[in-house]
Amino acid sequence: MKCPYCAHEESKVLDSRPVEDGSSIRRRRECLQCGRRFTTYERMDHVPVMAVKRDGRREPFDRTKILKGLVLACGKRPVSMDDLERIVSDVERDVMNRGEHEVSTLQIGAMVMERLRQLDDVAYVRFASEHRRFRDVDMLVEEAATFKERKRREDEMRDQVPLLTVEAGSTKTTK
Ligand SMILES: [Zn+2]
Repeated sequence: MKCPYCAHEESKVLDSRPVEDGSSIRRRRECLQCGRRFTTYERMDHVPVMAVKRDGRREPFDRTKILKGLVLACGKRPVSMDDLERIVSDVERDVMNRGEHEVSTLQIGAMVMERLRQLDDVAYVRFASEHRRFRDVDMLVEEAATFKERKRREDEMRDQVPLLTVEAGSTKTTK
């Protein structure tokens, strides 16, 4: 951290404290060469992780969404909110620790199911069937997109066919 007065590179930290929202740290420093004091702000390197759906759409990884799904699956089951919070925190930590900027919703679902299975069989089955349902819907969307693309190509081909016939005809007439 260069001193703003003499550009010396070394300073000692007199005091550091997080800024109120916790997104950065404020440090009071003293230059080791000229002795003058200055303040620096160090921002945490926060890289958001995106959840990728089957159809390729992305949205920021959202722990409340996972929790909602779990609460639904655990309705009337002897599972505490603390247990569910712990599952979500575990999954969130694992996702962040992968060090990648993207994670598929299928992977998230698998991670949740793995933990839920150890907690409650019924909740596990409910969550798994819900997860499967969403996966099937995503697959339908994917298939529909493929179908549309194939139809577009067929239409293009059909548009080109008359052109070819006309060309063939015109070469004939010029002969
Ligand atoms: Zn200095």
